[in-house]
Amino acid sequence: MIEISRNILLQNFCIPGKTATVTGRVCEDRLDALMRIMEHELLHLAEYLAFGQSRCSASRFQSAAYALFGHTAHQHAMTTRRSRVLANTPFRPGHRVRFTLNNQTFQGMINRIHTRATVLVESSQGQPYTDGKKYLKFYVPIHRLQMTK
Ligand SMILES: [Zn+2]
Repeated sequence: MIEISRNILLQNFCIPGKTATVTGRVCEDRLDALMRIMEHELLHLAEYLAFGQSRCSASRFQSAAYALFGHTAHQHAMTTRRSRVLANTPFRPGHRVRFTLNNQTFQGMINRIHTRATVLVESSQGQPYTDGKKYLKFYVPIHRLQMTK
């Protein structure tokens, strides 16, 4: 069975003119990327039918992928939104940060980063967490964060 991640296609090509690299080939749009992924997956299928196993990290797969489709990389490498966010920011979970909301400044710690950062701010009005303290949870756009010491 061939499965294709819808998210990985939808999360790329959001910016017009911005390309993504799939199987080592630059793709202009989602259809282009879908074709590269299909080529890769079809080769898996063919190799499996011929040899009873298929590994795209192995050289047999890679030379066939290059000969047939011009693929130069075997990772199904399209970036996810999260990996793009992380590539463009120094902020990481565990960092202490400051941000301003409705003219009030809060200090807390980044708990997770997805498209926004989840920041936990210690507060008596917050939810109890496993460390015994109470925290309010904020979803803060990354560009609004400031590093604190
Ligand atoms: Zn593969």
